[in-house]
Amino acid sequence: MRRSVAAARRELGGAIQIGTEAGLDEVVDETETTGIEALELLDLQPEELERLLGEHFASRGAAPYRVRQARAWLYERDAMSFDEMTDLPTAERAALAESFRLCAPDAARTARSADGTVKHLWRLADGELVESVLIPADGRLTLCISSQAGCAMACVFCATGWSGYRRQLTTGEIVAQFRGARRWAAEHGYGPITNVVFMGMGEPLANRKAVFPALTLLNRAYGFGARRVTVSTVGVVPGILELAERPEQFRLAVSLHAPNHELRRQIVPIERKHPLPELLDALRKFDAAGGRRITFEYVMIDGLNDSPELAVELAELVSEFTGHVNLIPYNPIPGNDWRPTPPDRIRGFAKVLEDRGVPVSVRSPRGRDIAAACGQLAAEHELRPPKPFLELVRRAPEPTG
Ligand code: SAH
Repeated sequence: MRRSVAAARRELGGAIQIGTEAGLDEVVDETETTGIEALELLDLQPEELERLLGEHFASRGAAPYRVRQARAWLYERDAMSFDEMTDLPTAERAALAESFRLCAPDAARTARSADGTVKHLWRLADGELVESVLIPADGRLTLCISSQAGCAMACVFCATGWSGYRRQLTTGEIVAQFRGARRWAAEHGYGPITNVVFMGMGEPLANRKAVFPALTLLNRAYGFGARRVTVSTVGVVPGILELAERPEQFRLAVSLHAPNHELRRQIVPIERKHPLPELLDALRKFDAAGGRRITFEYVMIDGLNDSPELAVELAELVSEFTGHVNLIPYNPIPGNDWRPTPPDRIRGFAKVLEDRGVPVSVRSPRGRDIAAACGQLAAEHELRPPKPFLELVRRAPEPTG
């Protein structure tokens, strides 16, 4: 049952139709292919998978319950190859391998932090590298996954932005990070993954074509309650609006990092394309859709965006939302000698927010020793300061004296 991927994609009637908005300006969507390739099972929605496996086994005269067995290997048992599906006869395993693909990236490297955080470097079929991070904390196990290889958003403080943009991940490649990490966690006594956050490499809402179906899969095939899945965005407005319209209650985190246009446009370049009033409007719609507390992420960089005056402005900005602010001490990246705001000033900043009725949490840095903390993921690529960073440091006033 070899068929063209493009043809199969056209057939995926139930899939959510979404536009692509990759980079800030123009990153071309390269996922269209014309070759005849076997279909990737991890790309498929559950109904489609059942239908195609049903047809496949029927055409071979195999029993219908083979579908259920194969499905369990995919969604529950994290089989990495058809060979592992040991309750299927050898001939059936071979026939599956002949007709379908099963994305199983290599763990090119596994790094374990002193604090228990684990970073996997996955090598994809074309050699591209992406990272995922397992973070154990307070009886929970959070998996942070990547949605793109690299990132086009060029935030001035983020290593992924400094590593440039390479390509979109497919749905299967996103789901494969989850399966690979879940299997590793089970084999190494880490227990079940309780939360998934799209806070790894890339901007998830600039790859909705793959991320939205991956959300559906996590929810409906892998059994993850939508409230345990968080999409973190730099502020891709059309994506926020589409997420607001989804019936499931996936959570949203927004990387705000500055409470006004002038500062935000310098450190989060998408502010130039979707300025704050537009972003806030989209968040109002998300809020109005109900039931989902928005997280406002705010990286704390010493002397850059951490004054008490900015805290007041931030409180005013977010107080209309059912949400909370998560302060993230800046995690240093090579080539940028900025420092995190010292803890006492983070506390002072938090207090300004709390005094104005805004709930606040401070994220403790995890996995810094293995470059697995927020903003440090670069999959071993070379880091080059993006243009907005150079503009900013060039303009910064010279120290006086
Ligand atoms: N593209 C998504 C996911 C990015 S990573 C987004 O922008 O939300 C998740 C969080 O880490 C974001 O809030 C991001 O701004 C933050 N981050 C990036 N670089 C950082 C750094 N060096 N230190 C601390 N947080 C950082």
